[in-house]
Amino acid sequence: MKLMKIEKGNLSKLMEHLKKDNFRVIGVTPDGKRFSEKFDETLNFMQSDTPPTSISFKEHFFLKTEALFYYKNNNGAIDLKEPVIDERKTVVIGARPCDTASLPILSKVFNWDYADDFFNRRVENSIIIGMKCNYQDDYCFCNEVGLSQNSEKGSDIFLIPDGDAFIAKTITDKGNKFIEEFAIFFEEYTGNPPAENKNGHDEKKFDYESVKKWLDNNFEHKFWDEAGETCLSCGQCAFVCPTCHCFDIVDEQCGTCAGVRAKNWDACQFSLFTKHASGHNPRDSREKRYRQRISHKFKYYNDKFSEILCTGCGRCSRGCPVSTDILELLEEIDQIAHSTTN
Ligand code: SF4
Ligand code: SF4
Repeated sequence: MKLMKIEKGNLSKLMEHLKKDNFRVIGVTPDGKRFSEKFDETLNFMQSDTPPTSISFKEHFFLKTEALFYYKNNNGAIDLKEPVIDERKTVVIGARPCDTASLPILSKVFNWDYADDFFNRRVENSIIIGMKCNYQDDYCFCNEVGLSQNSEKGSDIFLIPDGDAFIAKTITDKGNKFIEEFAIFFEEYTGNPPAENKNGHDEKKFDYESVKKWLDNNFEHKFWDEAGETCLSCGQCAFVCPTCHCFDIVDEQCGTCAGVRAKNWDACQFSLFTKHASGHNPRDSREKRYRQRISHKFKYYNDKFSEILCTGCGRCSRGCPVSTDILELLEEIDQIAHSTTN
């Protein structure tokens, strides 16, 4: 771990330099809503005390739609063509801990029974420059899922705001090499070491272990009859989420005798998601689908990969059109769990 310092103006110049050097640079857009190559070059929107972007940076690693291969009927023979993948080196600048942590979490599923080359190549080609978060609202719960406003999980370099500059802490070898390569933009940091990792709030909103234990034993509990009752099955929560990763693979026709096999985002809140060809649907109600959403994130994924499939960013709740609040539900489960053990 190495500590350096970079003035905000120099960080902006570094990003400009990288773009000229054919890097794909992804930062916060001028409206503060998402991460994009069309980011705010002044970096004024890269604030640590504003809400996280409405949409996570996941869409740059796990694309909304991605061609797996193209096919063409060539007089009875089938010609296959590989898609062209953007192999540019990528730098993501200014992601909060509740975004950066999503990459190691998603890596588990994208390298489980099959290594997803598309996802892996993008991650390998990227430097993630995370940033300490100084924001907190009623929807945030990063502390409850094992992270914090200072969490460096998933970052190669971690920035800590320091007046008009940032303290840049290298976390990985990739981060070290990056700072060495672009040393001209950095200076030695001579101040006191930044404070140790510490939770943003002292009072826990819920106890994850109690919630997990309750989920282990209450698949049929009456709580599920009402959870998600008002859900519209719009899928917003999955699409803005840094860790949701459901997808569908479909053949899409291009002209009369050619097509593309594409991988598209999907969501377990959609009624068709688990509908079988027979017409049977094991999750034929919003309540069952919402139980799946919560159970997948807070039980199944942890059982399988020892990770919680949620970074506590609160995006799903901030954007839900019917105000379904995942934190409220988790607090409710925690209360039920405690009332039954006391
Ligand atoms: S955003 Fe809200 S309404 Fe839409 S699927 Fe998610 S919980 Fe349901
Ligand atoms: S489930 Fe909600 S709070 Fe958790 S990571 Fe996804 S969007 Fe954020």
